Amino acid sequence: MRLLPLALALCFAIPASTDASAAGGQTRIAPADIAVAERLRDAALKDDTAWDFTEGLSTEIPMRMPGSANDLKSREWVTAKFKELGFDKVWSEPVTYPVWVRRSESAEIVSPFPQKLVVTALGNSPATPPGGLAGEIVAFPTLDALKAAAAESVRGKIVYVGARMVARQDGKDYGIGSTLRTNGPSIASGKGAAGFLLRSAGTDHERLPHTGATRFADGVAPIPAAALSAPDAEQIERVLARGQPVRVKLALDCGMDGTYTGANVIAELRGSKQPDEYFLTGGHLDSWDLGTGAIDDAVGIGISVGAAKLIAQLPQRPARSIRVVAWANEESGIHGGNAYGEKHGKEVARAVLGSESDLGADRIYKMSATVKPESRDALAQIAAVLKPLGIDYDTQFQGKGGADLAAMHKAGMAAVSMHRDATRYFAWHHTANDTLDKIDPEQLRQNVAAYAVLAYLAAQADGDFGSKPGAFVGQDKKN
Ligand code: ZN
Ligand code: ZN
Repeated sequence: MRLLPLALALCFAIPASTDASAAGGQTRIAPADIAVAERLRDAALKDDTAWDFTEGLSTEIPMRMPGSANDLKSREWVTAKFKELGFDKVWSEPVTYPVWVRRSESAEIVSPFPQKLVVTALGNSPATPPGGLAGEIVAFPTLDALKAAAAESVRGKIVYVGARMVARQDGKDYGIGSTLRTNGPSIASGKGAAGFLLRSAGTDHERLPHTGATRFADGVAPIPAAALSAPDAEQIERVLARGQPVRVKLALDCGMDGTYTGANVIAELRGSKQPDEYFLTGGHLDSWDLGTGAIDDAVGIGISVGAAKLIAQLPQRPARSIRVVAWANEESGIHGGNAYGEKHGKEVARAVLGSESDLGADRIYKMSATVKPESRDALAQIAAVLKPLGIDYDTQFQGKGGADLAAMHKAGMAAVSMHRDATRYFAWHHTANDTLDKIDPEQLRQNVAAYAVLAYLAAQADGDFGSKPGAFVGQDKKN
């Protein structure tokens, strides 16, 4: 059993559960802790710490490109903010990554109907030769169609792939767009293509392209790769539909520029009983350079910070620690998350549960988890506190906690995913429209409420959620 901290008992005057609930591996949460979580939830709906954090970071240090001057500035900013907010311990852990820089980018249809195109280079793309790359377009509707194409039809040409994404609550079409962006250029290069263009991985019809990283497989020559805004992609398709060869010119000045050592910045509320065990949350500190990185992902850190701040205001720290991480360089290869996993994965049992935020801050509509079966009842108790926020518990889906936590989850950390409404998100994601005005303060408070409840109850639970080395290997369904 876990004794209720005296100060909390006085505050809420609810006796703690006294049964030996940890027996048999069953994880339980005491009624008194549920009562505290309900108060945290209600307080979060009136608290603007997350908004203030997000407003501050995205206003004072927008365009947080990994390895840029803003990389260091953002780490200094977040370190000072963590200390100001009253975390017990703030530190950094170095992360080394290759740096990619964007200098300039332009494109045009040269013939038959000259037209400027709105494009943006993909992260990790090399530059075009001086003077630009001109070539004939060969078009495919999907990545699979490109995969099936004969190399002769592609060689020396500029590949265009026009796969489309539809806005959906679960955002699942991003799987189509991000797979195309990540793998398309490498596949095209493998068939001898000179360059690569895709219809942006987005759901909007703004004349704004969506950037994002691509990845060239070992042994494949990197080729210039860029994303077209949706209207520009459709312009190319209409010209192609007229049956004449379409020539475009692409001028990208960008490329790799050595390596850089940044850091994950970590803040902790130290637990009162088992301080070496912790609930792990956070978001990534880096962003693309087209917008201000407000929705991706200043607000993700803001949500965690807002939740932790409310818990810090309780009369006593919860039993376990709560750890907030501002991860380094997620965008070009999850470098911060991987470094965290490398350093802490061998002690994975200490990370009792993890859940990050990296999908904006629209309303959370469901929770899912990958945890040991004996902790499902405790998850149901947490879900009952979340229910008034409009959050359902999907016991079938196996949430993995987020990209920055993938290495820890793979090492055996139990994970919870909070599923946000992604209907609006992929219209703005990785574009110049990633700005603060896209965040609805009321929906953001609902996010903070959910994380405050989850973090507090995970830190107070009597028993664990199944984190141990190799715990979930082979158990994860693909979903
Ligand atoms: Zn992100
Ligand atoms: Zn992103």
